[in-house]
Parts: sequence; C-alpha cells; structure tokens
Amino acid sequence: MSNYTIDPAVNAALAAFKLPEKLGFGIVLAPVMYSVEWADGHWGKGALVPYGPIEIAPGARALHYGELVFEGMKAYRAGTPWPNLFRPLDNCHRLARSAERMAMPVVPDELFMEAIDAVAGAMAPFVPTGGGKSLYLRPFLFGTEPGYMLRNSQTFRFIVIANPVESYASGPMRVAIERRDVRAAVGGIGVAKAAANYAASLRASSSAIARGYAVALWLDATEHRYIQELSGMNVFAVIGGELHTPELDGAILPGITRDSIITLARHRGYKVVERPIVLDELLAQMASGECTEVFACGTAAIVAPIGALGDADGRDHVPRQVDVVAAELREALLAMQERRAPDPFGWTRDVAAPPVDAPWAPRAG
Ligand SMILES: *Cc1c(COP(=O)(O)O)cnc(C)c1O
Repeated sequence: MSNYTIDPAVNAALAAFKLPEKLGFGIVLAPVMYSVEWADGHWGKGALVPYGPIEIAPGARALHYGELVFEGMKAYRAGTPWPNLFRPLDNCHRLARSAERMAMPVVPDELFMEAIDAVAGAMAPFVPTGGGKSLYLRPFLFGTEPGYMLRNSQTFRFIVIANPVESYASGPMRVAIERRDVRAAVGGIGVAKAAANYAASLRASSSAIARGYAVALWLDATEHRYIQELSGMNVFAVIGGELHTPELDGAILPGITRDSIITLARHRGYKVVERPIVLDELLAQMASGECTEVFACGTAAIVAPIGALGDADGRDHVPRQVDVVAAELREALLAMQERRAPDPFGWTRDVAAPPVDAPWAPRAG
C-alpha cells in the first residue's frame, strides 16, 4: 500500500495522456502531480492528483516575500522499460539546505523520494526515450501562510510537477557578461535554489535576450571582477588542456551537474581546478588561445557549449573551439544517465516500483 493517497481521477488523467511528437523544454506537462502540506510542525499525508491549478491565499508569503525554493532533476528511460533517476538524493539534500537557509521546514529524504517516485512511476510509460530525452521533475516548496509580518510562514506546501522534455541542446550559446546587476552576494541566498535569485537575474536576462544573447554571465557582487555562473548553469573553461571552474564562493549555486563534471572529468584523466577566476584574465587567455573553450552545465542542458562572451562595450570574445571537450563530457555523462555506459559512481537509481494499490502497478498474470 502506498503512504500517499491516489486521487481516483489520476487514472483517467493518465489514460487520456498522449506524449506529443514535439516536446520542447517545459512545454508539455505531465497530467499528474504530487502535493503534501506542512502545518502544526509536521508534514501531512501526500497525494498524487491530476495536474491542475492550485488554490493559494492571495496574502501567502510565497507571493509577497519570495518564500519559495525548488529543484530540477531528470528521470531517463533509454533501453529499459522502467525509468531511473540521476543522483536524486543530492537534489533532496540541496532542497534541504535551501530550505534551511530560508528558515523553511525540511522535506525529509523519505517524503522527497516518495513524491519523486510517485510522479515518475505513474509517468513511467510516458518518459520519452533516447537522444537525451527525459522526464524533467520540478519539486518546489513554498510558504502558504498569509500575513505581512516579517517572519517565516507557519504553513507550507511541497509539490512535484513534471515535464517530458527533449534534450535542451540548442547549439552554442551566446552569453552576455553582466557588469551592472548582481545576482547573489556572499551571505545572501545565491547558494540556495531560491526563486528570488531568478527574480534578481531577470532584468539582465531580458536585456541579454534583447541584444541577441541567450543568457547572462554573473560576476561577484563585491568587486565585479570574478566570474560566478550563468543564471541557471555553472561554467567551465578549458585552459591549457585543464578544466577550470569558479570555486564555490558562498554565492554560486552548487550544481549537481558541476559536481558530476568535476568527478567525471578527473576520472577521464583531466586535471580539474576550482579557483577564483578573474574575468579579464579569462578574456585575455581566450584572446591568446591559452583558453581554448568555455561551456556551461546544468541538469536541463547537461553540458552546453558557449560560442561567445559578449561584453558591455558590444565586443564578442570568441573561443578558439566550441563543443569539443564539452561534447566529450556531455556524451559521457548522458551515456551514464541513459545507462548506456557503466556507472562507477553509483549515480543512477531506479524509480521505486509503484505501490500495489496503484492502478498502473504491474498485475500478476
Ligand atoms: C539549478 C542551478 C544550477 C545547476 O544546478 P544542477 O544541479 O546542475 O542542475 C546552476 N546555477 C543556478 C543558479 C541554478 O539555479
């Protein structure tokens, strides 16, 4: 028996669902979601329900004070009937650290995994396969108590929605160096996967897009001298054949893909250096050819090549090569995620079998 309730309408929602030909990223929504509420100091019973609008008090603190943290993770199903997850407990533990930073209740491991397994298990037949396609899972936790008092909410809700997605890869990204706005400062909430960090980044994103770039590159808040990361991805540079990435400085979001790339690249014989990276030095090394390549990484895109770093003066700094080391690492990581290659780090984990009372559980005979 499941620990969570299954809304009777879930079965019809799943039966009516057809996986469209064109998936995009975040456009197609899974017809089911998991929801659980926190009140009186503890979590209630979760429920798998049809995807649909939720009611929220207009005075809820999530809406007024940005009391919301989230995660992004993927389930793959290439060559196997049942899907598997990539490092799901790392997402769970990062959500816990994000929640702690925001004085929100932690979602315990078992509850987090129950929610992920419930959604990914129900969606198992609809997890698209091959070529980097996957089921993207989006867990989020937010304060629901209405009130303007400047303290944390006393009631919360944790929801997991999902999207069957294509590989995010869209060719080399043009990245705009952001010299005016600041995304996150040391001591702030940059290390938390908090919605408010994205709020801080949106003006730069819009401006970058308007100038023909895909995304902004953030500099440190104090000196505007060191590179941090993109709005939703960490960055790497290939310098003298080594991989260099900004060290986690207390403002950069510790990406799980970043960590996977560091481990995987070392395993493949690369020297990987985590250090403060001065933007002007990096641009000079790109000009001299010492830095041959730059790329970004995150769950959505896995590893995304960077084709140009555009500066505020309108100049584009272009690396000597694009998507060489990035392609090697992306393919190696995806092969593990799709279980086409051995997983020496124990990163993948099967989605739990559905509860026996789930209508979509395999029946004997
Ligand atoms: C989610 C996120 C990343 C990437 O993290 P992954 O765990 O690799 O998906 C990087 N930077 C920011 C700001 C993020 O929100």
